[in-house]
This record gives sequence, structure tokens and C-alpha cells, in this order.
Amino acid sequence: MHPAAKQRHIALVAHDNMKVELLRWADYNRGTLAQHHLYATGTTGTMLEYELGLPVHRFLSGPVGGDQQIGARIAEGGLDLLIFLWDPLEAQPHDPDVKALLRIGAVWNLPMACNVSTADMIISSPLLAGDYEHRRPDLAPRDWGRTAELLA
Ligand code: PGA
Repeated sequence: MHPAAKQRHIALVAHDNMKVELLRWADYNRGTLAQHHLYATGTTGTMLEYELGLPVHRFLSGPVGGDQQIGARIAEGGLDLLIFLWDPLEAQPHDPDVKALLRIGAVWNLPMACNVSTADMIISSPLLAGDYEHRRPDLAPRDWGRTAELLA
């Protein structure tokens, strides 16, 4: 690895019908992934550790809070990239969490791949290990002037 190469914080999540696809993709890209810090929801993370033999910081399983934990990390600025192979053909018990995760990623302008072709593009981008930092919008707490007026 080039000494100036950036080590990114990369989160990976795959719904059950997409896990094989993610594992295949991760295996193919193991060399690149090994240069970064990996995070995942519980089951995805366990499978990735087994498949890749790399350390993965595991959150709770997606349906019991893992998606929300990853969303919180994104809001805090702790992640650089999300690979999220959500299942477009099957409803999930935690659909609200899935939507919330996609939403918070968009709010914070996080690079997100929701299918393998986009993941291929991102993982092979020179920006990945370069100086590029995704611009985080300046989102101050909302103005509460009207509420303050009512309280006065
Ligand atoms: P899992 O969660 O990795 O624990 O299966 C993924 C998800 O459904 O969000």
C-alpha cells in the first residue's frame, strides 16, 4: 500500500437474499478491502470475517438495530463509504430502518453503493485511496425562533 493512501471506514450490509452476492464481491476485492477498516451489521459481518479472514467491526444484526447503529455512525462522521445490498424484491421486517439508513446516507452526502455495479465503480476509483473527502453539509440545529417567540 502506498504510504499516503487513505484508510477508509467502510460499512457493508446485505439483506439475506443478497448475502452471497456481497460475499462474492468482497472476496474478489479482498486485497483492496484489507487496506481499510471494515464495519458491518451482525450477520453480514460474521460471514465477511469468515470469508475474508479480515477483522470486521460488527454492529447488531440489521433488523434489531444494526442499520440504525450504522446510520448513527454516518451522522457522526465515522464512515466514509456504505456498501448496502438491500433486497429490492422482498419486504423486510425492518423496512423503516432500511429507509432511514438510505435517507441519512443521502443527508450526509455519503458515497453509497446499493448494487454490485456501483460497488465495482467505487472500489476501483482512484478517489478511494486518494485525498478525496466527501463534503459533509453544514447542518446546524434548526432555527427555533418561532418556538422561542411563542414561549416569550
Ligand atoms: P444482518 O443485517 O447483516 O444482521 O443480516 C442486515 C440487514 O438486514 O440490515
